[in-house]
Amino acid sequence: MALIVQKFGGSSVADAEGIRRVARRIAQTKRAGNDVVAIVSAMGDTTDDLIDLANEVTKKPPAREMDILLTAGERISMALLAMAVNDLGIEAHAYTGQQAGLKTDNKYGRASIVGVIPERIVRTIKSGAVAIVAGFQGVNVETNDVTTLGRGGSDTTAVAFAAALNADACEIYTDVDGVFSADPRVVPAARQIKVMTYEETLELAAHGAKVLHLRAVEFARRYKVPLHVRSSFSDKEGTWIVDENSTKINATEAPAVSGVSHDRSQGKVSIVGVSDAPGSASKIFAIVAQADGNIDMIVQNTSLTNPGISNISFTVPSEQVEDVVAALEAHKEDIGFREIQTVKSIGILSIVGEGMRSHTGISARLFDTLAKEGVNIDMISTSEIRISVVVDPERLEEAARAVHSAFGLDSQLGEAVVYGGTGR
Ligand code: ADP
Ligand code: ASP
Ligand code: MG
Repeated sequence: MALIVQKFGGSSVADAEGIRRVARRIAQTKRAGNDVVAIVSAMGDTTDDLIDLANEVTKKPPAREMDILLTAGERISMALLAMAVNDLGIEAHAYTGQQAGLKTDNKYGRASIVGVIPERIVRTIKSGAVAIVAGFQGVNVETNDVTTLGRGGSDTTAVAFAAALNADACEIYTDVDGVFSADPRVVPAARQIKVMTYEETLELAAHGAKVLHLRAVEFARRYKVPLHVRSSFSDKEGTWIVDENSTKINATEAPAVSGVSHDRSQGKVSIVGVSDAPGSASKIFAIVAQADGNIDMIVQNTSLTNPGISNISFTVPSEQVEDVVAALEAHKEDIGFREIQTVKSIGILSIVGEGMRSHTGISARLFDTLAKEGVNIDMISTSEIRISVVVDPERLEEAARAVHSAFGLDSQLGEAVVYGGTGR
């Protein structure tokens, strides 16, 4: 008998019919002789709708109250899903994150998991019932208040329970057939990837491919939980995300580039006229860290015509730009700079592939493709298996399609299927 953790995203449980379809899949897995723990997201766009509602009531919703509001979305879907599974003659019990034993720190809106004590879940499955757990939520160990794990966090709930329960499989059900070489909503010629490593998936997830929550992939890598990302609307084999030594990774040489991702959630802060002396960067980034800014790229250039003066630019999520700038302005005297310029919304295009370790000429091909498209590059950053460029957000999607084509990724099998969801 195997223990299977199945996570169903919002698009899979968008309405009553969706909830019944998911219940049938759980029942089928259970009837095949497995124990099942199901993690469920809020129905459809419920979380976005609740955020909109909060913003209609107040300009700055308090973080603690926001989390109480948002956890309500998953409470609805977990209860309805448990009812639908019971209706198929299989006992199922729904649990909030708190009841299921998911403990977090005190960072409302983006809490980190500090432990999972799944006693109730273990008792439930031992009794022969299915456990349904609300995704994306936990409880602050210090205060007992409910917390949320950040947008898309139900994936992380699923991996955390799969690790804590030592599950045999962790299946992430969504509205596409798996992980594709690009977002199929933007690049219709995207091809489904059969197997990929944790590292490649981390790079894609960290740079805009929202098919998996970044922290879910980090957790899976740390605890070696193989993930199977697949559609809840079809029975097709999805994408396996595994360790680089897994036997699922076949011996043939990896393509230079396996995926393209695009991200329009970041903004850019440029500090102009910083003195080019030891300690400037250290002061700046200590202040950014204090303001909880999540930096991705950093570029510093020193003017040749104006020695002693440099400019530092970095990217942070758009919603953090204001706070980060306010914190830096408050220390203007101490840091010593002329002015700060900001761009609220930039486009970031990334190419990712294990094959980059061994192939050459990848960046030349990327830059050549963008040049032919007339897309200007503003910033560049690289890792061993990724190259990212900042471009005009207006040109981001066409740039993604052109780059996808240029690296020979276009599928010959027709357009990728998107079964549901609004892409919101
Ligand atoms: P869920 O509600 O199941 O959590 P999400 O909307 O969070 O679903 O994630 C699924 C969506 O991720 C897809 O519909 C697709 O538009 C988007 N996506 C972005 N990049 C990729 C990619 N590389 N492969 C597959 N889907 C992707
Ligand atoms: N419902 C939450 C969100 O929309 C969590 C999730 O779906 O993973 O972000
Ligand atoms: Mg998601």
